[in-house]
Order: sequence, then C-alpha cells, then structure tokens
Amino acid sequence: MPLRPAWVEIDLKQLDRNFQIIVRDKPANLDFMCVLKDDAYGHGMLQVARTSLQFGAKYLAAVTVDEALSLRADGITVPILVMGERTPDELAQCVEHNLTCLVNTARTVNALQKIAAGLEKKIPVQVEVDTGLSRYGVRWTDAPTHIAAVANAQGLTLEGVMSHFAMSDELDKSFAMQQLGRFVTVLDAMSGEGVHVNYRHMCNTGGFLDLPAAHFDMVRMGILPLGVYPSQVCRRIPGLSPIMSVKTRIVAIQEIEAGDYVGYGMRYQATTPSRIAVLPVGYGDGYPRVRNQGFVLVCGRRAPIVGGNAMDAMMVDISDILQAQVMDEVVLQGKQKDEEIDVHEVASLKKSVSYDILAGWRSRLPRVYVNNQDTPVND
Ligand SMILES: *Cc1c(COP(=O)(O)O)cnc(C)c1O
Repeated sequence: MPLRPAWVEIDLKQLDRNFQIIVRDKPANLDFMCVLKDDAYGHGMLQVARTSLQFGAKYLAAVTVDEALSLRADGITVPILVMGERTPDELAQCVEHNLTCLVNTARTVNALQKIAAGLEKKIPVQVEVDTGLSRYGVRWTDAPTHIAAVANAQGLTLEGVMSHFAMSDELDKSFAMQQLGRFVTVLDAMSGEGVHVNYRHMCNTGGFLDLPAAHFDMVRMGILPLGVYPSQVCRRIPGLSPIMSVKTRIVAIQEIEAGDYVGYGMRYQATTPSRIAVLPVGYGDGYPRVRNQGFVLVCGRRAPIVGGNAMDAMMVDISDILQAQVMDEVVLQGKQKDEEIDVHEVASLKKSVSYDILAGWRSRLPRVYVNNQDTPVND
C-alpha cells in the first residue's frame, strides 16, 4: 500500500545513540527505568522498550494495564511498573501478568493480599509517596506507617518506594529540594524500621539531569531517550538528538493574485501575487490549530503557514522558494538541510509543552521506522 504523504519518522539509529550517550552520562551504579506511557509519547512503545532493554533498563513503566499487557504480549519479561491507581478488577489482571502495582492505600493492600492468598504466590509491589505533587501516593506524613504495613503484609514483597517531582526541570529547584527533603525523611524512617527495598526512585528526566542528590537507586526516564529535553533550561548532554520527525509532501500549488484569500475564515489576504503550497495535513493529525502562525521547512528553508489550518490541510507561502514543486518533501517537525523546527517551537504555537506535541501526533499519521540495523535504510 502506498504511504500516505504525511507521516511520522522515527530514527532507530539515533535512538540507539541516545541510549548510549545517556548510559555513558549516568553514574555507573544508577539503574534506570524506561517510561513508555502513551506509546512512548507517540514514538512506538515496543521499539523504545526493546532498545531500552538492550541498553540495560532494569524496569519498564506504563500507566494503563493495556500498555503493560502489550509489552508482555511482545514477550517482554522484565519487571513492569504500572503507575497510578488501579481499580479492583485491574489488580487481578496485573497479578496474572506479573505487573507491579503501586499500593498506596490499606484498601489496595487488602485487595492484593486476598488475591495473593488465592494464588499462593508473593506479589511484588511498590509504594508511591506523595511529597507535594498532590496526585498519586500516600502523603509523606503518613508514609512511614503505611510502608511498614506493606513491608509486613503477608503475600506481598515490597520492591520499591518512589516519589515524583512537581517541578524538576526549571531553574528554580526550591520546591524540588523541599520534596526531596520529605522523601528522605520517609526513607530514613523506613530504614529505621529495618525495611529495605531494592529500588528507591524519585527522578524523571528533569531530576536525572539536574538533581543528582535525588538519584537514589534508579531514575525513571521517558522523554530523554527520545532526544527531547523536558524544558529549555535543564542540563544538556552533547550528542542527544530527537528521533522523531514529522513530514509531508506538497500535493498542490496555487498561484494566487493580490487580494485573494487563503483558507477558512478568510484569515489571510495576499498583498502581492503569491505561490501557495498545499500540504495534506492538519489539526486532525495533531498539528496545533493555528492562524497565520508557524513555519514548515521546504527545500531547507522556512515557509510561513498562511491562513488557518484545516483538519486535513494547510497552506504555506512558497513565493520566495522558487524551486519548490509538487511532491517535494516538507518538514513540520525536525531538520531539513541546515534548518530545524524543533518540538518546542511547535509546542509554542499552542502555548504547550513538548510532551503534548510528541504524544499528540495522531495514529492516522503512519509511523515509519528508519535506520534500523536489520532492514534497509528508508529515507
Ligand atoms: C511520565 C512520568 C515519568 C517520565 O517523565 P519524563 O520527564 O518523560 O522522563 C516519570 N515518572 C512518572 C511518575 C511519570 O508519570
């Protein structure tokens, strides 16, 4: 089947390189968990999972049970943490497939113990401590008692204790340090009770980069192996580069006159005769809904988006790019010759963050994996 002329390209060789660089950068005794939620932020969960395991990931993390089950269905047997809270039905499913749940309430402990009793096996669990995000987890003040109870619960094995930062990737680290202090208090109380776990972990990518004091035994990385930084100000590691590009082709060119309008809502009026390229991609593919805002790369140059983009199409002004023609490749996110439109630039069009854009490219854009060692290079 011919490829739709709009696609997401994932560079597997650069993914290898990114993992290699991260592994070289991190302290040798620091383990890492690869966070694969939302299809590895739209990059393809299985590809990222397999590569992370080649580079020594000790643990994988998902957020929905479905995500974790598709890793198991692919034959992956390493421990998988299902983050967040589970419903009672989900708990049984997690136990059946050997997925590690977080037990943050006495209710969940009891429910899991019932399942364990029926199965006569020990169930691995972890506890999340809420140190200030006010999302999942047992409040830090209540955590020592809860952790001791989990550690002593028949049928359960406490493998890890985690927390999560509210803000780790901005310059102001004061709240992160306060959260770290709360977590350390909990961990101290825990070892005071004689409870020891294999994995104490608090850092996402921002924490990994900027808060070595919070590394503990393991860090949880989602965005960094994809070659994208969580913010504009966190530490940079030379050589990391985004593995995702989003591309399309010019499918039509309109020669218009001064005074002509472009796009729905008549948001753009040409002041001179212009050449307008039509791209078969729009907000229905995950591009922000814009009006006379944003650029794409054509022949290695920036071409401005004119008018408002539609669900399935957008128009760009190529009056200055004389050599551009129908079927030319166009980059919406990524590099072309010496120019680049990075994901942060696309995110700024909707006042959002890189995570939102990466994960927001819809599945109607086919994923094309290039530079796979096992298959011919396709670009
Ligand atoms: C998503 C997530 C991560 C990974 O964050 P990155 O910034 O992508 O590294 C880590 N921990 C938790 C709890 C998460 O939800």
